[in-house]
Amino acid sequence: MSTSEPIHYDIAIAGGGMVGMSMAIAAARLGLRVAVIERTPISSQLEAGFDGRVSAIALGSVRILEHIGVWGLLAPHAQPIDDIRVTDGDTPFFLHYDHHDVGTEPFGYIAENRYIRHALHQVAATLPTLTIIDRTTVSSLVQQPHSSQLVLSNGQCLQVRLAMAADGKHSSLRKLCGIDDITINYDQTAIVTTIAHTASHHNLAQERFLPAGPFAVLPMTQNRSSLVWVEPNDRISSYMELPDDEFLQEIAERTGNYLGGLSLASSRFTYPLVLMHAKRYHAGRVVLIGDAAHGIHPIAGQGVNLGFRDVGVLEELLAQSHSLGLDIGSETLLNQYGQWRRIDNLTMLAVTDLLTRVFSTNFLAVKAARDLGLWAVGKIPPLKRFFMRHAMGMVGDLPRSVKRH
Ligand SMILES: Cc1cc2nc3c(=O)[nH]c(=O)nc-3n(C[C@H](O)[C@H](O)[C@H](O)COP(=O)(O)OP(=O)(O)OC[C@H]3O[C@@H](n4cnc5c(N)ncnc54)[C@H](O)[C@@H]3O)c2cc1C
Repeated sequence: MSTSEPIHYDIAIAGGGMVGMSMAIAAARLGLRVAVIERTPISSQLEAGFDGRVSAIALGSVRILEHIGVWGLLAPHAQPIDDIRVTDGDTPFFLHYDHHDVGTEPFGYIAENRYIRHALHQVAATLPTLTIIDRTTVSSLVQQPHSSQLVLSNGQCLQVRLAMAADGKHSSLRKLCGIDDITINYDQTAIVTTIAHTASHHNLAQERFLPAGPFAVLPMTQNRSSLVWVEPNDRISSYMELPDDEFLQEIAERTGNYLGGLSLASSRFTYPLVLMHAKRYHAGRVVLIGDAAHGIHPIAGQGVNLGFRDVGVLEELLAQSHSLGLDIGSETLLNQYGQWRRIDNLTMLAVTDLLTRVFSTNFLAVKAARDLGLWAVGKIPPLKRFFMRHAMGMVGDLPRSVKRH
């Protein structure tokens, strides 16, 4: 039950993760009054032990983070990705991407999620029209023709022109506004940890497709690498319970020798993997962004990049509408957003799902076909360049903030 008179904002965003906070900053920079409603305490989100993950931030996403004034604060903590190597288990087939083949800039950067959050909150603190309400969720939603009312778990009532669900794959706001989704459980979990090593990673990101699941080694600052090690659910506890020296031995067998001597540089984290796609991206005056709209397998490190592109597109549409004095929550605007983002999101969802299935089998015909695929992409320069630009987030119908370079 609401205990107070409605507080008026232009936009309320449920979920202050990487996508919700980026969107809040983008909208507040347009002069819009924005409230972010976040379930967890912000102070705990900023702690090192909160989320052991890193994100591969594609060059296109760097452009968006530059545009909203965040990248400058994050750049000192980000490690460039200059080369990408994809291998199929122990076979001699591999695909090597070199950034020199598509220009002078890196493919993207690896940044620890905690530093991304720090940078976002530092920028948010400078924006007078942005309010963060943490330890709070949305309890109920009433949609009206010209506004929406959200009653929060702390008793406050917000009246807004547009509400955004950025509260992740299991979005409560998506459910409150009646949007159905398609969810597929992969029966896989990612073990995430950080290693330190004596040899340089040379800004190389490696992905090894093993029969149990992909094993990625992502270059970090200070001669460290982040591991994303995917296994079937029923094997996870046996790896998580291993003593450190045996756990490290398992890692060494999968990484090979190129990093020299290894040591563990963080604790171990686990993330169960599911695919989720919302059947619609908006209902009434509620729009979905980030994982609340589309959650994909981390096989290609693209989930948050899709979310940043949602932010880039929605910011562009809001800017046009706001500057003309039009309704920022109109069905026309939200339809435009949905149509603009659907193809990119669905393509990435289909590609990551296909890769997950094709590389998780030992069936000989499929193995031969995927090795032929790796070989062919490497040997056909225009195809290879296309895939490289795709990994950089520089392909498709991009927002102006990405295209301006
Ligand atoms: C192992 C792993 C590795 C990954 N690596 C990469 C990578 O390298 N590159 C990449 O692009 N992507 C990667 N991803 C995907 C990426 O992490 C997600 O796409 C990204 O976190 C989505 O951000 P988000 O803000 O949309 O959602 P989330 O990160 O899920 O954030 C949602 C926020 O909403 C809050 N919340 C939840 N429920 C409520 C509620 N009811 N009310 C209010 N607040 C709520 C949560 O506390 C959280 O702060 C990876 C994913 C995994 C699992």
